[in-house]
Amino acid sequence: MQTRAYAATASDAPLAPATLERREPGPHDVLIEITYAGICHSDIHTVRGEWGQVDYPLTPGHEIIGTVTQVGEQVSRYHVGDVVGVGCMVNSCRMCPSCQIGQEQYCTSVVWTYGSTDRDDTMTQGGYSRHVVVNEDFVVSIPAALHSPDLLPAATPLLCAGITLYSPMRYWNVGPGTNVAIVGMGGLGHVGVRIASAMGAHVTVLSHSHDKYDDAVTFGAHRFAATSDPETLPKLQQEFDIILNTVSAALDLSAYLATLRPNGVFVELGLPQQPLNIPAFSLTGGRKAVAGSGIGSIAETQQMLDFCAHHGITAQIELITAEQINDTYERVINSTVRYRAVIDATTF
Ligand code: NAP
Ligand code: ZN
Repeated sequence: MQTRAYAATASDAPLAPATLERREPGPHDVLIEITYAGICHSDIHTVRGEWGQVDYPLTPGHEIIGTVTQVGEQVSRYHVGDVVGVGCMVNSCRMCPSCQIGQEQYCTSVVWTYGSTDRDDTMTQGGYSRHVVVNEDFVVSIPAALHSPDLLPAATPLLCAGITLYSPMRYWNVGPGTNVAIVGMGGLGHVGVRIASAMGAHVTVLSHSHDKYDDAVTFGAHRFAATSDPETLPKLQQEFDIILNTVSAALDLSAYLATLRPNGVFVELGLPQQPLNIPAFSLTGGRKAVAGSGIGSIAETQQMLDFCAHHGITAQIELITAEQINDTYERVINSTVRYRAVIDATTF
């Protein structure tokens, strides 16, 4: 079937209206009429070729909420009318060590929601679109508590931003008594503040300016520090058990590593083009670790949605039309979106 979308035709071209061909739903597929699609900074890195060459035209978008309008004959988990979500991946090999332990996000041949070769050799196209067809195993259920017209668009960023922060916090046992720092309070970071606070942790936001102080406190941060002030990080020596870095640009890690307690972990979530620069001495003193984490499994994404519904957590969003995508990309880069842009999919 054909469906309306927005696509980039080159790394330096604006996104423009396009038509996509979606496959007819196979036995295990669901057809979803998309209602909302979030704009993640990863969409911008990808369409602009910052992570390497991609094939154009490319429709990005991996924070997707919509309604099931058709199901394949063997689909058992979803029915027409269900409100569902799709995140960053739409299939995996189901055989590699990662798939076998239920961590398909680390599958050696994971099929990303866009810009990836699908199992039928076509290229996947993402959520800036009216419809998408996805294997039911890669679809999650949006809890009823998030279905109201004001909450549903705001729940959309949970599909990437939410799970990307939730998964490492669960893995490193964030909870009461944990001192968490979240670096960068954009789309990922602000949802992270809400989740960490709901988990009972003590939350510090490290932001590059003072502008987001009031919002950080509203989201549940206990402390806020602006890293543009060179005095800030030296005053926070050995404060944190875990640092979650969501910054989309490269940072000097040594100053941040000094703020970790002994045995603390710095978790890299941001994906700048440049490699991380980590001085050896900043790790050995205090047996510190630098780790990375990428989204989360489908099961964990469902768990995260249930957690967020239970705690009333959604993103703070700006609802935009498709025509505003290109201007909004510039605002994401300038950190002026508060705090995630979500596209009304009826405007594609
Ligand atoms: P975003 O909304 O643009 O937020 C990034 C934040 O980083 C900004 O709000 C800003 O926060 C800070 N920042 C930006 N430029 C900076 C600079 N030059 N110096 C210092 N701080 C700067 O982006 P996002 O959608 O949250 O994504 C963040 C990063 O995570 C991107 O690189 C994205 O590709 C990546 N990502 C990774 C995963 C994963 O699975 N690991 C998943 C999704 C996204 P302050 O104003 O508070 O400083
Ligand atoms: Zn994302």
